[in-house]
Amino acid sequence: MGKLDKVMLDERLKQISKYNAKIYNWHKTVCNTSELYFEPESEDDIVKIIELAKKNKRNVRAIGMLHSPSDLPFSDGYIISMKKLNRVIEVDVDLEAKTVTVEAGIEITQLNEELSKHGLALSNLCAISDLTIGGAISTATHGTGINFGCLSAQIKSLTLFTDSRGKMHCSETMNSDIFKAALCSLGALGIITQVTIQCETAFLLEANQTPAKLDHILDNLDSIVHSAEHVRFWWFPHTDDCITWKANRTNKKPSPQKLSYINDTLFGFHLLQLILYLSRFRSSIVPKINQLIFSFKFSKPIHFIDDSYKVFCFDCLFSQYVNEWAIPIEKAKYAIRDLKRWVETSEVSAHYPVEIRFVDQDDIWLSPSYGRKAHTMFRSELEKAYPKFQSFIELQKQLDPTGLFLNPYLKRHLFGENVDVKNLKSKL
Ligand SMILES: Cc1cc2nc3c(=O)[nH]c(=O)nc-3n(C[C@H](O)[C@H](O)[C@H](O)COP(=O)(O)OP(=O)(O)OC[C@H]3O[C@@H](n4cnc5c(N)ncnc54)[C@H](O)[C@@H]3O)c2cc1C
Repeated sequence: MGKLDKVMLDERLKQISKYNAKIYNWHKTVCNTSELYFEPESEDDIVKIIELAKKNKRNVRAIGMLHSPSDLPFSDGYIISMKKLNRVIEVDVDLEAKTVTVEAGIEITQLNEELSKHGLALSNLCAISDLTIGGAISTATHGTGINFGCLSAQIKSLTLFTDSRGKMHCSETMNSDIFKAALCSLGALGIITQVTIQCETAFLLEANQTPAKLDHILDNLDSIVHSAEHVRFWWFPHTDDCITWKANRTNKKPSPQKLSYINDTLFGFHLLQLILYLSRFRSSIVPKINQLIFSFKFSKPIHFIDDSYKVFCFDCLFSQYVNEWAIPIEKAKYAIRDLKRWVETSEVSAHYPVEIRFVDQDDIWLSPSYGRKAHTMFRSELEKAYPKFQSFIELQKQLDPTGLFLNPYLKRHLFGENVDVKNLKSKL
């Protein structure tokens, strides 16, 4: 089939494609061989790829940096890497506007640097910046701050290439239903090529990280969550130890965090990676590792002031298994106490950290913060938890009547199908 397809590609598509490209997610837990892999450089290229996929009855998916821990981005047909659609189109520094329009494949690292040159910044960010803005908003990626929404909530408008209605501009006032669905679409509605993002004047953040006890945090959760603009805490399972991290906008002089080779690279990266790897063969040492790391690296307060994006984002070190839940804030302390009890009474060995962050609610149809419901569910649970789930499914069918943008993950989770994944290898 590959050879036959190759003959059918025009000159332009040949230039930007590869056959049977093997791609892995960031965690190296899932890998996928797609029939055709494309690196388009323009919207015209995207149109050609969509037409080819329709003609050959293949599924097509956009990918960003493949940081999703599952097979969500993968396709049994064609893959569109957005890495070359990464240009800044317009920066509007006008006091009223403060927006930037970019292609969806831009990495957040590059976006932060471009904005900084124009005296602008994003109001809130996720933990890492080597994601694309398209991937981040397709999954409602979030940072922390009880009065700050997820990254999708910062989007003013976007351009979406669909099957049934072609190129669409969407915003609060134009195709507003599609806009609310596309702001967390899991790639199921089409390909997002451009977004306009609301920014603010560049700012410094003052961060304070302090050790604390879990009971103290949970007993005072409401006041702690509101005690700074951005608050998160890490709990070290099998212990009562936590760190709280708080950050506020400031006009004080910058005093960046000083990292040392011995503490942060030699021990904090290489040795830590080695002992965590060894703990896979002897999980009984995990509680000890958590205690040691806390005493060695986190038991003293840390204070620093730096550009907002350097404070929001940090190095997540090495490949790791991640599990994320969204819990309504009023239930958070009960859920965390139950989790602690379960860790103490079961055979499980849980690595640090359990990270707890806070996100404002929004009205994005499939966002975990819509009505503050929970995540990681299958269709029957999703229908109950997400009030707009059925509307999303109906819209998906209208915009994509032949299922061009669906993949095994979406068929399993959104449509409840039992899909056999032939071209996917998972180590999980
Ligand atoms: C180390 C690490 C730290 C992380 N930290 C955070 C965090 O702090 N907060 C958080 O919420 N999440 C976090 N995540 C999860 C991450 O934000 C999401 O997985 C995000 O989707 C990754 O972006 P990406 O560019 O890698 O997208 P991919 O993983 O490549 O794609 C994600 C989804 O978006 C779709 N997609 C991508 N681009 C487009 C496009 N242009 N048009 C249409 N659909 C598209 C894909 O088809 C796929 O369904 C983290 C992940 C890792 C590995």
